[in-house]
Amino acid sequence: AYDHVLEIHKRHLSPVATAYFQKPLLLHQGHMEWLFDSEGNRYLDFFSGIVTVSVGHCHPKVSAVAQKQLGRLWHTSAVFFHPPMHEYAKELSALLPEPLKVIFLTNSGSEANDLAMLMARAHSNNMDIISFRGAYHGCSPYTLGLTNVGTFKMELPGGIGCQSTMCPDVFRGPWGGSHCRDSPVQTTRKCSCAPDCCQARDEYIEQFKDTLNTSVAKSLAGFFAEPIQGVNGVVQYPKGFLKEAFKLVRERGGVCIADEVQTGFGRLGSHFWGFQTHDVLPDIVTMAKGIGNGFPMAAVVTTPEIAQSLAKCLLHFNTFGGNPMACAIGSAVLEVIKEENLQKNSQEVGTYMLLKFAKLRDEFEIVGDVRGKGLMIGIEMVQDKESRKPLPREEVNQIHEDCKRLGLLVGRGGIFSQTFRIAPPMCITKPEADFAVDVFRSALIQHME
Ligand code: PMP
Repeated sequence: AYDHVLEIHKRHLSPVATAYFQKPLLLHQGHMEWLFDSEGNRYLDFFSGIVTVSVGHCHPKVSAVAQKQLGRLWHTSAVFFHPPMHEYAKELSALLPEPLKVIFLTNSGSEANDLAMLMARAHSNNMDIISFRGAYHGCSPYTLGLTNVGTFKMELPGGIGCQSTMCPDVFRGPWGGSHCRDSPVQTTRKCSCAPDCCQARDEYIEQFKDTLNTSVAKSLAGFFAEPIQGVNGVVQYPKGFLKEAFKLVRERGGVCIADEVQTGFGRLGSHFWGFQTHDVLPDIVTMAKGIGNGFPMAAVVTTPEIAQSLAKCLLHFNTFGGNPMACAIGSAVLEVIKEENLQKNSQEVGTYMLLKFAKLRDEFEIVGDVRGKGLMIGIEMVQDKESRKPLPREEVNQIHEDCKRLGLLVGRGGIFSQTFRIAPPMCITKPEADFAVDVFRSALIQHME
């Protein structure tokens, strides 16, 4: 049966998206942090369908709400009102600080960021949008211009139809100091790239200023930043850097956009939104993935003023955005996060696990860095700590395969796919974190033999 699936995949599904593993997993069922394949094996899911299943696969409460809504009303489109949309708008806006109170619902992170770009342009009357090197903001033709993770960057004749630029190169976050990126992981090593974090921050601010002074940012409309870069391999900025970047952007009339697609909804533990960990207040916040626990939904939240600027320029429409199913599910997700204290759990289990993974860095030469916050953790694999060159992809693949064989699913990130990404549903327990660290350690030992 598996061969039949492979055959269909090869013939009828586009080759642009590649699956993990030599023999991609054929998954049949999920329950909370567990996934089950076609052969009856079970896996602890520590990647949540790319940082998306926030409260657990088929969470009983969310599933019950979805089933009830399925029997009541699926779709109206934006030309009619329905109660789940207004309920959800009230609940979501209550989670954001003033003046971020106006919501537009979409279906995906890319769509949300597309809309945020339109808002920034309408509001500023400027054109240029900038993002960080290593950023991922989507794969739509518009957002691809902002996505700067090598493998997604398109080289098409005539470019990609959208302005974007590089900012400071945050690739493989060269900052070694624990205080420099707000991490509980202590490091004894001096960072080879920057003597201390304050210097790193200052250097990056200078680079950022240089970028703002170039022709690509002459007419600055907006600046996008992920509070922690996800696809780039859980890359964090030096403390204070983002705050200064926001200030510089605003001085030039630009709008600041926080892309919370991966970092929002309590995953980072200490705060509900990633921007709060940087002590900044964005003008626009975009969100997707964890918002719907796997159901396609996304949102853009902004100020009444910016919402009005766009409304003055154009009508904006989306057939499925804010549909009754998505809104009912969104409300159930928020309720579960609150009822089950999942943000606190992310903080507790996340910090516990980060410190345990950090010990592997001391034990294995090929574990170059362990970083992250809450339940968003990156483990960067290197040839050796001195050179910091990425471990060759085939070797990282082998460790990845071994984790799977031992019952643990983790993700990958970084330009060379050299960083393992850990982002389980927020309901995981400390014993499960122990299991994950043990499995990962066994995979590393196997690799060294
Ligand atoms: N922003 C970030 C930070 C993301 O990680 C992603 C998806 N990986 C997106 C935007 C795009 O979201 P979607 O795939 O739902 O379009």
